[in-house]
Amino acid sequence: MPEGDTIYRAARALNRALAGRVVTGFDTGLAKLARVNDDTPLVGRVVDKVESRGKWCLIYFSGDLILVTHMLMSGSWHLYRTGERWRMGRSRMRVVVRVGAAVSGQEADPSASLRDDNLNGLRDDKPKLRDDKSIWQDTGGAVHEVRSFAAANDTPPYDDGAVVRMGHPNRDASSTVGWEAVAFNVPIAEFHTARSLERSSQVPKLGPDVLADEFTVEGGVARLEAYGREHPEAEVAVVLLNQRVLAGLGNVYKSEVAFAAGVNPWRAMRTVTHAEIEKMVEFSLRYMRANVIDGKGDGIVTYAGNRRTTHSMSREERLWVYGRQGQECRRCGAKVMMRKQGEQARSTYWCPECQGWVGDGAAPVGNVFKGGVRRKVGC
Ligand SMILES: [Zn+2]
Repeated sequence: MPEGDTIYRAARALNRALAGRVVTGFDTGLAKLARVNDDTPLVGRVVDKVESRGKWCLIYFSGDLILVTHMLMSGSWHLYRTGERWRMGRSRMRVVVRVGAAVSGQEADPSASLRDDNLNGLRDDKPKLRDDKSIWQDTGGAVHEVRSFAAANDTPPYDDGAVVRMGHPNRDASSTVGWEAVAFNVPIAEFHTARSLERSSQVPKLGPDVLADEFTVEGGVARLEAYGREHPEAEVAVVLLNQRVLAGLGNVYKSEVAFAAGVNPWRAMRTVTHAEIEKMVEFSLRYMRANVIDGKGDGIVTYAGNRRTTHSMSREERLWVYGRQGQECRRCGAKVMMRKQGEQARSTYWCPECQGWVGDGAAPVGNVFKGGVRRKVGC
């Protein structure tokens, strides 16, 4: 069964391929969906975004229409370039969403070509691509990128949840080629409007959005504390990443926020003080907003000590702990640790000195070194 994280990555990949593009085709073998498509055609709508909620994948179309799918055991989404041969039988197809070329020079345009780049060089420069490959090979997974890297002269919309810069801004022929997102064997697929989705008892709700205008530190603190009372043993970083508690924090910020607040990410919620929770919410807000103001959208805040600096600094210099396993803590010089955390096994980075352990038993220990190779770019 695909884990929530797999759906999360699937949704992100779909988002990169589809968002901002006009729907040029829609097919479905499901009568209920077909009826909606007959009444209010999908073709001509723009895909606004794709997001995950728990194990649900939500594709938002302009004109208040949301395609909601659940993979359960057997379902998967595949992404193909237009015209590419499917890797699964047509009889298993449930939904196809075809999109044309990108509307405008959006950052998320997955087809911004990297064809001038040598792929081997690209791998060396961006080790995260190696990790991302696993997204597409994930057999329990939701989206399968069927193109091999060697053939990827136009780049699939992978990313690592942290930063993706898809190629250079120059457009070329490949940006005129669209994508085809195909849902195979999805057992649940339905259309919603924003209102019907809100009323749906099945699809989980997101917590308050850290970036929403109405978000307040008090509200965020109350939310975390309420969750902590219900789940006293839940680990801090897992809670920060839980979109049903607070929406918006990704895997990078999770570690960065815990570091900035001086809270060990492995601590149980019951050990965390009000003041610490307040700090975490304040830093969440600050980092998220800073990132939005930068307009980078890549989840990266730039620092030099406490100060944010220019984009031009290497990514290495931008983050406190994320991606810095085995390197010296910028505050105290101790070695930054990393360990996979939670059901979804997301990488968590922390400084054992600055983020002291509070709780029963010994402090969790992470891996300090990564295969003896110092990573140039963290992920
Ligand atoms: Zn430290």
